[in-house]
Amino acid sequence: MISSKDKGKGLLKKSDIDDADGLITNETGIALTTFYADCVPVYFLDPVLKVIAMAHSGWRGTVKQISAKAVCKMKKDYGCDSKNILVGIGPSIKKCCFEVEYPVVEEFEKKLPFSKEFIFKDNEKIGKYKIDLQSIIEKTLVSAGILSYNIENADICTKCNPDLFFSHRNMGNERGSLAGIIALK
Ligand SMILES: [Zn+2]
Repeated sequence: MISSKDKGKGLLKKSDIDDADGLITNETGIALTTFYADCVPVYFLDPVLKVIAMAHSGWRGTVKQISAKAVCKMKKDYGCDSKNILVGIGPSIKKCCFEVEYPVVEEFEKKLPFSKEFIFKDNEKIGKYKIDLQSIIEKTLVSAGILSYNIENADICTKCNPDLFFSHRNMGNERGSLAGIIALK
């Protein structure tokens, strides 16, 4: 939970919320921000009760269903109705480029059996797989009560568009970061 006392943390003053993969508030004038470069930024807005949240869903966060956790928090702590929550999935690495090896696949298979249909064996490279993180996140959100027509997927790959985005897979550590920002006015 973020309030006005947290304003500027991580930018203008030292942050004590370093480890968080999710931020949530119902206060106006606070820009919830996550930094990323290929991971999936997920934006949440309940326009009825005016609550916002931001989740940073890398593959580990996706396995942990961080997006569903954000929905749960919005419901539990702020009284939101999942039917009112609008969700945006920002530019991030898509299945065209998100190549992984079996240990990552195994984590998904173990903890999210449904994700099988979104994991693809690479026919050209032995032992490599591609994962469709955005579709797994969408499914997780729907299971948490979000209506599928309230989910907007930007459907843009950060690695395929180096002229537009920083990409860790493209540039390694010699890169900038992208920021996902949401605020209530
Ligand atoms: Zn791509």
